[in-house]
Amino acid sequence: MSIVRLKEREYSISRLQHLKAKHPEAEEILSFMEKVLRWQLDFYEKLENKGESNWRKGLKEFYSLLELCISYGSETLRETAQSLMALGKEEIEKLIAEFLKERWAPEEERFIFLSFLNPFFSIMAESTDADLKNWLKEKCPVCGFRPSVSYIMDTEDVEGGRYLSCVLCNTGWLYYRTKCPKCGNVEDDHFEYIHEEGNRYVQLHVCKKCNTYLKVIDLRVDGLAVPHIDDLATLSLDLWARQQGFERYEKNLLGL
Ligand SMILES: [Zn+2]
Ligand SMILES: [Zn+2]
Repeated sequence: MSIVRLKEREYSISRLQHLKAKHPEAEEILSFMEKVLRWQLDFYEKLENKGESNWRKGLKEFYSLLELCISYGSETLRETAQSLMALGKEEIEKLIAEFLKERWAPEEERFIFLSFLNPFFSIMAESTDADLKNWLKEKCPVCGFRPSVSYIMDTEDVEGGRYLSCVLCNTGWLYYRTKCPKCGNVEDDHFEYIHEEGNRYVQLHVCKKCNTYLKVIDLRVDGLAVPHIDDLATLSLDLWARQQGFERYEKNLLGL
C-alpha cells in the first residue's frame, strides 16, 4: 500500500474543500468533483489492496461511477452516463480501449473514462522507472497522455523547474522552463505571462506564436496548492483565455 499516494489523495480532497470556500463561483462543480475524488480514493484503496492495475479487471466499478454521475452530474453528463449504463461490460471495455488508443473521446465520455482510469494508472505510475527529471517530452512517460496543467517548484537538484502534469495519471515530469509544448517555440519574446490580481500563484503561459497556453501553478508562491485541483478552481482564467482566442494545450478533466 502506498501510504504517500493515499495521503496525497486525502490531501487533494481537503484542498478542494478549501478552494470551494475561496471560489464560490465554482462551488457547484467543485462539490461534484469532491464526490468524484472520494469515489476515486475508495476505488484506489481497493485496487491497492489487491495490487490491481489492470483496468479491464475493475469494470464492475465503472457502473458505480456512472451512478454517481447520474445522481450528481450536470444534465449532459447525466445523459451520457445513462446511455453508457445501458451497455454491457464488453461494449464498455471496447469504448475504453478505443479511448486509450486514440487518447480522445467526446467531452462527457472523456470525463468519465479519465475519472475511472486514474486510480489504475496512478498505481502503474508508482512503479514506473521512467527518469522524470530527464524525460523532457510533451507526453507522459507512464501512459502517453498529454499534460493538462503544469507547475513550478524548487527541488534539491533543480531550482524553479517547470513540470508538466499528466491529465490521466497525474504523473509530473520536468520540462523546459520556456518552451511551448505545441509548436516548440523557445523565444521568450513570444510568451506572455498572465495572472489574476491577488492570485499570483496561478499563471497562464501563453505562446503568441501558436496561441496555445499552459496553466502553471507556482508552488513556490503557494506551497499548499495541488496543481490538478487548483486548476479546476481557477476556470475563470480559462474562460478569459478562450475569449482571447487562446487554446489550452490539453483540456483538463472538465474539458476546459
Ligand atoms: Zn500519465
Ligand atoms: Zn507555441
